[in-house]
Amino acid sequence: MNPHAHAPFADVVSLGALAMDYYGLVVSLPHPGEKISALGHEVHPGGVAGNVMTQLARLGVRTGWIGKIGDDETGALILREFEREGIDRSHVQIEAGEQSMFTWILVDHEGERTIVMFPNTLVKLTGADVAEKHSEYIAAAKILHAEICALPLEPVAAAMRIARNSGVTTVFDLDVTPHHFIEEARLGTRQMLEEVLSLTDVLVPCKAAAAELLGSENLPVDAAWLMDYGPRAVVITLGAEGSLYVDRHQSFKSPGIPVKAVDTTGAGDAFHGGLIYGLLNGLAAEQTCELANACGAYCCTGIGARAMGTRGQIVTLLAESTGRKPQWM
Ligand code: ADP
Repeated sequence: MNPHAHAPFADVVSLGALAMDYYGLVVSLPHPGEKISALGHEVHPGGVAGNVMTQLARLGVRTGWIGKIGDDETGALILREFEREGIDRSHVQIEAGEQSMFTWILVDHEGERTIVMFPNTLVKLTGADVAEKHSEYIAAAKILHAEICALPLEPVAAAMRIARNSGVTTVFDLDVTPHHFIEEARLGTRQMLEEVLSLTDVLVPCKAAAAELLGSENLPVDAAWLMDYGPRAVVITLGAEGSLYVDRHQSFKSPGIPVKAVDTTGAGDAFHGGLIYGLLNGLAAEQTCELANACGAYCCTGIGARAMGTRGQIVTLLAESTGRKPQWM
């Protein structure tokens, strides 16, 4: 009998930031040395990987996270969110006596914000942990999603190697510049980054990271050169204008879906959720970008990173914007 026949699995497995965000609402952000009183505080689930998984779960995709949290109050809140969204927690490592990742976010009346990340035990995930404890989980998935704003590159590279050897599609969200995480945050080396890029199928860089890798700000023209690092496709978000898609056969701009935007926090993460849904379900590149744009746009219509639409809400938004119900959803 296969001992793993009933092992938990997820179609999309994610590595990256998972946190609780502790917000302080203030009139204006304090200057150095200033002491201010907050108007209120809020606690919300966050972290880029947590947000992307939430969008996927709301679209009906079975998703799971690999990483470390502590057995603290923040960790309990993180796990409660997993339950609520239906995200698989079987590969969350709960470390006794450790603190989970959290962030302090100050937001003023204008929506300006300052974010302080406390990665804590999140960054203690090693390549050996990934290889020893999570390799079967990754190999059984269809897509591996990795994001590196706080996580070191070493466990990401380990996960990418397993995925590549098992035929699992890899999506790499390069959401900080190479300069930042190599020289400033010291989360990995240039060599490791190049290895991860060479193991990436679909690269989703932030604009600053793409510009730094290319040595060019002219992304619509030069983004295709990013494929020389290894990916077979590159997708770049363009705010309200939508997104840019490039592969070896085609390159196009997918127009944004017009909405009454009230808060764009999390729009990029919602976009990535839609993009991964499209890849998972074999949608054409145009439809994948249209769906991803709809997920991003929907998230802008509410406050906070998790103002993400369910499958039904996204289908309705697409139908309203195009005048017809999408046949491919
Ligand atoms: P990030 O910079 O966080 O990656 P963007 O601000 O480019 O994210 O937004 C991600 C996606 O969300 C965009 O590609 C677009 O599809 C959608 N989006 C963002 N802002 C708007 C907006 N104001 N109106 C409609 N869609 C938006």
